[in-house]
Amino acid sequence: MQYGQVAQSVEQRTENPCVGGSIPSLANFLFSVLCSLFFVFCFHMKHWIVGIDIGGTKIAVSLGTPEGKVLDKTVFSSGKTKKASELISQIQSSISELLSARALKKQDVLGIGVAVPGAIDPRQEIVLKSPNSPYWENFPIKPVLMRKFRVPTFVENDANAAALGERYFGLGRGINHFLYITVSTGIGSGIVVNGSLVRGEKGTAGEIGHMTVMRNGFKCHCGKRGCLEAYSSGTAIASHTRRALQGGAKSRYFKGMKLNQVTGQLVGQAANAGDRVAIQARRLAADFLGIGLANVINLLNPKRIILGGGVMENTNHFWVPMMKAVRREAWPMAFRSCEIVRSRLGKNVGDLGAMALVLERRHPSHGAGENLD
Ligand SMILES: [Zn+2]
Repeated sequence: MQYGQVAQSVEQRTENPCVGGSIPSLANFLFSVLCSLFFVFCFHMKHWIVGIDIGGTKIAVSLGTPEGKVLDKTVFSSGKTKKASELISQIQSSISELLSARALKKQDVLGIGVAVPGAIDPRQEIVLKSPNSPYWENFPIKPVLMRKFRVPTFVENDANAAALGERYFGLGRGINHFLYITVSTGIGSGIVVNGSLVRGEKGTAGEIGHMTVMRNGFKCHCGKRGCLEAYSSGTAIASHTRRALQGGAKSRYFKGMKLNQVTGQLVGQAANAGDRVAIQARRLAADFLGIGLANVINLLNPKRIILGGGVMENTNHFWVPMMKAVRREAWPMAFRSCEIVRSRLGKNVGDLGAMALVLERRHPSHGAGENLD
C-alpha cells in the first residue's frame, strides 16, 4: 500500500458517520490517535532500501535505510559468469537472503535501486550500451526484479546514481548545481543542474570521459581518439608510464618489470616513492584532467565538483598540477565560484548511489528541497 493510499483510507474512515458512538468527540479522538499510530507504523515499516551496484568485475547488493546507512551487504564476482540471466538469479537470491536475515518482508522495502555502468534509456530504464558489461545490454533488469519482489524498482547509470548518492548523503547535499566525477579505470560523471539530474535525450549525458581534449590524440576504449579518459584515467596513467619506459626513460622502480604489469595504482606508489617517470605520468594526466574540469566549469558554472574514484584516493603529484591547469584554462569568474573537492563517501558511493535512486524517484522532494543554496 502506498502512503497516499493509507492517508486516503484514513481520511475516508474518519468521515464515516458510523464511527462515533455515544461520546463522539472522545471516540473520534481515540480513532484519530489510532489512525496516526497506524500511519506512523506503516511509514516505518517501509524504511528499508535495497541498492544494487553492478560493476565490471563484481556486484554488490546492499540493504540500507533512507538516512544512508548501509546495514548489510553481499558482494559477488560478475567477471566469470558473463550471463545476465545467471547474475540476476544471484542478485535475487542475495536480496532474499538479506531480507530474511532481518525477518523483513517485501512490503517493508521502499524500493530497489540498480546502478549499472553504461548508457540507460531514461524512459524504459534498459541498458542500451555497456562496453565493460555487454551482457546487460537490452536485458530487462527492472521487470524481472519487479516481478519477483513486487516493489518499485529503478535502473540508472552508475555515475548518475553516484551523483544522487552525493546529493542525498554526501557533499552534494543542499547544492543545486554540481557534478560528481569518478576518475578510475575510466572517467564518468553525473551532472546535477537546477537540483535535477541531467540525463539527456538518450541517457548519455555526463560522458565527460569522452570529451575530446586532443585532436588525433591517444586511442580511447570507445574507439575515438583524444578522449579525456585516454589521458587522465588510471588506465591512461599506466599507459603514459609504459610509453615513457618504452621510449628509454630510466626508472629504478619499474626496472625488470614487464610493461603489462604496470598499473595506475603501481604508478601512484612509484610516484609516492619519488620515481621521476611515475611523477611525470601523473602530472601529465592531472594536467589533462584540469583541462576537462575547466571545460565543465565554463559550460555549466557549477558550485561544486566532487571527485571520486581510485585515482583520487592518492592525490600526491596530482592535485596541485590539476588545480593549476583548471586555474589556467577556466573562465576566472566561473572558476572562483566553483569548489573542487574529494568525495567523502569512499567505497560506499556505489551502494549509496543505488539507494539514493529510490529516494529520488519515490520522494523527489526529500533532500532535494532541503538546504538549497
Ligand atoms: Zn572515448
